[in-house]
Amino acid sequence: MINVSHLTKKYGRFKANDNLSFTVSDGEIAVLAGPNGAGKSTAIKCIAGLLRFSGEIEICGHNNKSADAKRILGYIPEIPAPFELLTVWEHMEFIARAYRLENWEERAEKLINRMELDDKRNKFGKELSKGMQQKISICCALLIQPKAVLFDEPFVGLDPHAIKELKAMLSEMRGNGTSVIISTHMLESVEEFWDKVFIMMNGRIEAERDRKIVEQSGENLEELFFSITEKGK
Ligand code: ADP
Repeated sequence: MINVSHLTKKYGRFKANDNLSFTVSDGEIAVLAGPNGAGKSTAIKCIAGLLRFSGEIEICGHNNKSADAKRILGYIPEIPAPFELLTVWEHMEFIARAYRLENWEERAEKLINRMELDDKRNKFGKELSKGMQQKISICCALLIQPKAVLFDEPFVGLDPHAIKELKAMLSEMRGNGTSVIISTHMLESVEEFWDKVFIMMNGRIEAERDRKIVEQSGENLEELFFSITEKGK
């Protein structure tokens, strides 16, 4: 469960996030949608505990800056930042040690295999393409078997196989009760599996909808998005 309550993030006087409150339940995939500059990445970084903010954020009941929260939270940033001088496999080892994981090797093998990084396992982070770095980020975040995961524009830069695998992983996460937030402006990429959507504009949530409600209205995600973001245009 991810619980965000009155999240406000200012850069100087500018409010990049203005009093956001929302919940993502166990086994729910929530999409944070919105045009460029709406405040999606800022919200994700606040939830990940990387920025100072006012308000409260809890991950499965733990304050998001606590060690208990960090132990169960996965974050895949928009711009991957692997360690330049660690190999793909050493990234797995590093995470396993940092999080004191046990019996992680088989899981790491499987993740690397699903992301088609097997033949790159001995390559350094700096030797990998942006897409491959993105794949390492995904493997690192999922190795810890997080109870909540934040994906910031995860599909940008991934090849079709990795996109297919990631979608399969998302549905597995939903099945095992993980709370997922995906920020994206590529709505067609999440159309098959989203459960809840928050449409952001100018730092605020302009609309929050459950999939059932949108389907009952006969709209799709894209139509809903434009009806909110281009209202009055
Ligand atoms: P999105 O992810 O929806 O594209 P962001 O959260 O990246 O939006 O940005 C929201 C707003 O905050 C934008 O107007 C952006 O220019 C501003 N912003 C983001 N990061 C900073 C920063 N470090 N300093 C000042 N303003 C920032």
